[in-house]
Amino acid sequence: MIERKQTRQVLVGDIPIGGGAPIPVQSMTTTKTHDLDATIKEVERLEEAGCQIIRITVPDQKSANTLKEIKKRMTVPLIADIHFNFRMALEAVDAGADKIRINPGNIGKKDRVKAVLDKVKSAHLPIRIGVNAGSLEKDLIEKYGYPTPEAMVESAKRHIRICKENDFDDIIVSLKASDVNLMMDAYRLFSKEFDYPLHLGVTEAGPTKSGSIKSAVGVGSLLAEGIGDTIRVSLTDDPVEEVHVGFEILKSLGLATRGVTIVACPTCGRLEVDLFKISREMEDKLKNIETPMSIALMGCAVNGPGEATHTDIGIAFGKGSGHIYYKGENRGKVREEEAMDHLVKMIHEFEKEQTNGGKNEF
Ligand code: SF4
Repeated sequence: MIERKQTRQVLVGDIPIGGGAPIPVQSMTTTKTHDLDATIKEVERLEEAGCQIIRITVPDQKSANTLKEIKKRMTVPLIADIHFNFRMALEAVDAGADKIRINPGNIGKKDRVKAVLDKVKSAHLPIRIGVNAGSLEKDLIEKYGYPTPEAMVESAKRHIRICKENDFDDIIVSLKASDVNLMMDAYRLFSKEFDYPLHLGVTEAGPTKSGSIKSAVGVGSLLAEGIGDTIRVSLTDDPVEEVHVGFEILKSLGLATRGVTIVACPTCGRLEVDLFKISREMEDKLKNIETPMSIALMGCAVNGPGEATHTDIGIAFGKGSGHIYYKGENRGKVREEEAMDHLVKMIHEFEKEQTNGGKNEF
């Protein structure tokens, strides 16, 4: 059981972050924000995949002008991503953003900082201070020689101090780096001193395969230590993949509030069916299932029945057929080519049962 570090809680729209609340998975659109149709399409795909908070960049006036319409058509909270331009932050608040990602130290003159923080405060919105090892302040690089956890935490402290000077404390913090050890140490160091909720991420993690592994190690290790209140997986891929990977990380630690956990054997010489094909097809079919459940796909009778009886739904194959299990009960033998249909039926049966009041928490 993971004991989560107690952080203060902030609200992003209707989603609580920190203070022991479930850990939301977030992602970011990749479209030009001013392209309304393309952005909405991506937002809808992210929402369908279960993305709980969506960040959208607001780099220019055209984007700011489109943000209001985007927000109207979103069902999950919107984070406006702002760099430097304080006017965009003000406009994003007017457009209905639920949180602003901005570093107060990058806004510039004091009156501009005050204008942004006053506006955000009057709208009761939080901000995220996003420290990134790749864009640390020059003087901190000079002081520490290169990006270190201490330099990153010092950078975060500067932005926090500016917020406090303006009587603003509704803050979420991230300390991202593409180097997994650096990012983990920065979060650990920060977490010792502060109780602001933490947004975890390995930045610029890379293509799907290596990026997912880096994120799983970096984000997963911190979560296992109880650090972290929301996560974003950064991949050089469709952002929908980021959401799937984010949930896989949470599921593997028993921290997910939705989705299917698949247990599948790695296969060996005993295998008598095409389990690779079956597990690929199954993974694809289950991507958007919200109900938490576990499914075992096992290649033979050695470990198959054991695993299959310990999951919500399972199949233990033999030669050309398999025994199917529902909540531990053996429901008989089905042929290999019919296995997928039977499993899908049981999945729907399970979903229905859960919707009708059953409980199955990870
Ligand atoms: Fe091999 Fe059977 Fe174990 Fe799968 S369940 S790895 S087929 S022994």
